[in-house]
Amino acid sequence: MKELLHSFSGCSAVFFPVRRLKDGGTCEFATERCLRECAAFKNATEGNKIPYDEKVRVYKQITEGQIFEVCNSIIKQLSKCKPPRLLYWFACGDCPKKHEDRIVKIIKYMSECGVTQIGFTRNQSLWERVHKLGGVRFILTVEDIKMIDEIYKAGFYAVPNYKTGQVRIIRNTWVVKEPRWEYTCPASGWHTPTKNMATTYWHKDTLKNGVDGETNCSECYNGRKGCFSQEGVIP
Ligand code: SF4
Repeated sequence: MKELLHSFSGCSAVFFPVRRLKDGGTCEFATERCLRECAAFKNATEGNKIPYDEKVRVYKQITEGQIFEVCNSIIKQLSKCKPPRLLYWFACGDCPKKHEDRIVKIIKYMSECGVTQIGFTRNQSLWERVHKLGGVRFILTVEDIKMIDEIYKAGFYAVPNYKTGQVRIIRNTWVVKEPRWEYTCPASGWHTPTKNMATTYWHKDTLKNGVDGETNCSECYNGRKGCFSQEGVIP
């Protein structure tokens, strides 16, 4: 099987095609604004400009191939990367509902094999099924911060900042004594207290920019910062 991963944010990443399903993409849950101002394009650098056809090839192989072969191929590719072995889901695109069971199986298998995984999705059901698995940090992207209270489930959420192409990441537990954590990926480095809630601040220098201002999840992983902080474990 041809390689399924491309480099992104210090990890090896799965890139699925962006667009609505009817237009040959995977962004079933995206808003119109998200599709119009897609950060996957805004933040693309020379290193991660993956052609549409290549993303379609990866998407087809992952969603149509034998699950065991797909997992083996990913693990084989990850084993060539320098530690930590980090798998990033949906550097662009998302998991459509029709492939959710399969993607959950792959994520579970990877987790059992000790692969650390991070991913952003707008598929709430996928997020609920995987985000508490060992070594998995999955973040649910919502359009508006108010939606977090409506969903009312402990976990990591991301709210896009369309002006900068970055996301504001919020960890919420609804445990009264627990602080609500809020921070932004390294590229912008601002951190805002949340109204009426105890908030732990990330000083902007604690999350360093990666190369060319790109985010770098492996740096967060190594330094136990951002999504990989000790406090980031969802009870
Ligand atoms: S805070 Fe760090 S680990 Fe989390 S998404 Fe941003 S770069 Fe990746």
